[in-house]
Amino acid sequence: MVDKYAVIREIKQYAETNNVPIMMDDGINFLTTYILKNHVKSILEIGTAIGYSAIMMALVDVNVKITTIERDEVRYLEALKNVKLLGLEDRITLIYNDAFNVKLDDKFDLIFIDAAKAQSIKFFEMFERNLNCNGAIITDNLKFHGLVDKNDSEIKSRNLRALVRKIKDYIKFLETNEKYNTEFFDIGDGISVSIKK
Ligand code: SAM
Repeated sequence: MVDKYAVIREIKQYAETNNVPIMMDDGINFLTTYILKNHVKSILEIGTAIGYSAIMMALVDVNVKITTIERDEVRYLEALKNVKLLGLEDRITLIYNDAFNVKLDDKFDLIFIDAAKAQSIKFFEMFERNLNCNGAIITDNLKFHGLVDKNDSEIKSRNLRALVRKIKDYIKFLETNEKYNTEFFDIGDGISVSIKK
């Protein structure tokens, strides 16, 4: 019997050693509590990385099923290894592809957007058709390590400035989207929960 806590510790250690961005502890606690409280059973995740958040979400309840998409081969293979190690391959479906090339017919209770931060509006618009009525779209990294609260002039790198502007555009998109009620949470790296009206 594999020690799941030891495996999770190793996944987090691998992420740190290899500079793989994974969800912060507070963010994961928020996400898993949301899944539990709202009886979420089906989840689509954009941005698997090495499978950490997918595994943590799957461990909430044996009835939770996840489809998760990753475009980086090394990370996808590492995620596959981690999912198999924990015997979760029946409940976590890993798709190795760019999310923009993936067309799914299934509907999900929760869509978790955690991929390229400049593309969040596109991911939202592309996958909202896969959301169940009463479903939620959750997005991570809306604070982007505190940079979203800064003025342009305080951010030295031009690329970073452009990225932060895109995240601000996404926040505005959520605030003004009349099809959803969005709540913003100052938890982890900043999380939004958008519920279909
Ligand atoms: N959700 C993961 C966790 O907390 O364990 C972390 C995901 S990491 C922040 C973002 C991942 O999204 C990266 O591994 C990146 O390769 C992937 N990604 C970015 N853009 C993507 C796209 N268009 N399609 C699929 N994966 C993408």
